Amino acid sequence: MAVKKIASDTLDFILESCKATHPREFGALLEADGDTIINVIYLPGTDSTSRSVSLKTWTMPNMPHAGSVHSHPSGAVRPSEQDLIFFRTNEVNIIVGEPYSRESWKAFDRNGNLISLEIVDYEFDDEEEDEDSEFN
Ligand code: ZN
Repeated sequence: MAVKKIASDTLDFILESCKATHPREFGALLEADGDTIINVIYLPGTDSTSRSVSLKTWTMPNMPHAGSVHSHPSGAVRPSEQDLIFFRTNEVNIIVGEPYSRESWKAFDRNGNLISLEIVDYEFDDEEEDEDSEFN
């Protein structure tokens, strides 16, 4: 199913994570419920510098995910050549630029084309056991 939406709480969490990581680059994978992105999957050992997040750890096999997110501390919300190569392995790729506000992010498909994600309210069920909790 095509990803078309992102939960507002998840987006806010991403923006906060990017702010907290600044001036280093934040990077993580995204998990979706149907057509809505609802979760950020941190990868242990992600090597982050001000220039780039190491993409090696992102390509770990057999990790189900719907997309990726990373920040650009420079503020430029435009995929780099390296980004475009990595994007091919993900349906949705979000870039958040400094100052990490709701106006400073964009989403791209696997070909690097701009796509729009609708920000929606999502009912999170905290009672449910999350299989991927070790990555939260
Ligand atoms: Zn980038």
